[in-house]
Amino acid sequence: AYEGILRRQSLRESAARTYARSLPIVPVRARGLTIEGADGRRYLDCLSGAGTLALGHNHPVVLEAIKKVLASGAPLHVLDLATPVKDAFTTELFATLPRPLADDARIQFCGPAGTDAVEAALKLVRTATGRTGLLAFTGAYHGMTAGALDASGGAADVRVARLPYPRDYRCPFGVGGERGAELAARWTENLLDDPMSGVPAPAGMILEPVQGEGGVIPAPDGWLRRMRELTAARSIPLIADEVQTGVGRTGAFWAVEHSGVVPDVMVLSKAIGGSLPLAVIVYRADLDVWRPGAHAGTFRGNQLAMAAGAATLAFVRENRLAERAATLGARMLRRLQGLAAAHRRVGDVRGRGLMIGVELVQPDIGVPQAGVPQAGVPQAGVPQTGVPQADPVLAAAVQRECLRRGLIVELGGRHSGVVRLLPPLTLTDEQAEAVLDRFADSLEAAVR
Ligand code: PMP
Repeated sequence: AYEGILRRQSLRESAARTYARSLPIVPVRARGLTIEGADGRRYLDCLSGAGTLALGHNHPVVLEAIKKVLASGAPLHVLDLATPVKDAFTTELFATLPRPLADDARIQFCGPAGTDAVEAALKLVRTATGRTGLLAFTGAYHGMTAGALDASGGAADVRVARLPYPRDYRCPFGVGGERGAELAARWTENLLDDPMSGVPAPAGMILEPVQGEGGVIPAPDGWLRRMRELTAARSIPLIADEVQTGVGRTGAFWAVEHSGVVPDVMVLSKAIGGSLPLAVIVYRADLDVWRPGAHAGTFRGNQLAMAAGAATLAFVRENRLAERAATLGARMLRRLQGLAAAHRRVGDVRGRGLMIGVELVQPDIGVPQAGVPQAGVPQAGVPQTGVPQADPVLAAAVQRECLRRGLIVELGGRHSGVVRLLPPLTLTDEQAEAVLDRFADSLEAAVR
C-alpha cells in the first residue's frame, strides 16, 4: 500500500511537486518532533511544515482547541463574520505585537496562504500611497502568486527595484560584517535619492528580517534600523514579511523585535494558524484606506485555524518559547560551527534562534568576485581569492543521508546549497542532541 500511494501520487500530481520528491515518505501519524510513515519508520521532523509547526505536530493544546470548536457546534464556515473564535484569536495576536503598532493596529484576514497576505500588503501600500514601485531584496522569497513573485529575488517586474540584502557570507560587496551592511544600506539610500535611477516612486519596501528560503540569512539589526530610518524619512511604508520568522522562531516573538524596528505592515502566516491555513496582515490604522469589500476572499474565516492559532500564540507566550529558541538555537549553532571547522565542505553555518542554515560548498572552486575588493572576513572554507561555489549536489546528498537516518531537513538558498533546520520550538535538549548527532553522521557519510 505504501509503495502504491507513492507511485500513484507521483503519476497523478503535477510536475511542480516539490517536497514529495526529496522526501519520499507517506506520513500517517505524528506527534511533536516525530513523524511516522506508513512503512512504520519514524523520522525527526526538522522541516516542521517549512517552519509552520511552532509546537511540533499535533500538540495537545492545539488539538484541544480544535476539538473544542468542533464540540461547540459553531459554524466552520463564516466568511468574514465576527465570531467568539475570531475575537479570541485577534485579541491574542494583538497582545503579541510590537508597540506602538499594537496600540492602534488593524488586521486584514487574507486568503489561506502566506502569499495571499503578501498580495494584500502590496495592494494596501499601493492603494495608500497612490504609488506603484516597490523596494525588494535579492534572495527574497515572498510566495508564488504574481505580486509576491515579483517581490522575490530574481523576478522581473520593472516596477520592482531589487536591492542588495546584506550578508556576511557571499557578501555582494566582498567584505561582509558591519562594513558590508553599511555598503548595502548606502546602495539603497543612493538609489532612493537618485532622480535618474529609473526606479518608480516606491509604494513600500518589503523584507524578511531573516531570509528563509533564500538560505537562512539573518539581517543585521543595524541595517534593519537603517532601512526603517530611510523609509520613514521618505514616507515609504515598511512591510516586514514575518511569515517564516514569526511566533518565536528566531528567538524573539517577532524577528523585528531584535532590532527594535517597528514596521508599518506585518505579513503573518504559517505558525499563527497552529498548523492550519491562516494568513493575515496587521498594519498601522492610518494605512487602513480600503473601501468596504476592496479586499475580499471566501476563505478568510477559518475557525479551526483561528482556534489552533490562538492556542499556539498563547502557549508560545506563556511558556517563553521565544527565549527557549534563542538559547537552544545558539547552542545548536555552536555545535554546528564546530562541525564546520572540521569540514572544508561546510562553507558557513548561520542562523537566529531555531532557524538554522548550513551551507555546503566546493572549497576548491572559488568564484572570483569581479570588480569588488577581495578583503574577506576570515571564515571557514573561504579562500581569499573568491567565494567558494555552493554545492547543491552535496547538499542533496546530506539531505538523503539525513533521511536514511530518520531526520527530515530541507534545502534552501539561491543555489540550493543550504541545509535548513527548522525544528519545533518545543524541542528538548535531548532531541536537539539526537538531531545534531544524526546530522553530523549524515554529513560525514555524504562527504566521504
Ligand atoms: N513569505 C515567506 C517569508 C515565506 O517563507 C513563505 C513560504 N515559505 C511565503 C511568504 C509564502 O507563504 P505560502 O507558501 O503559505 O504561500
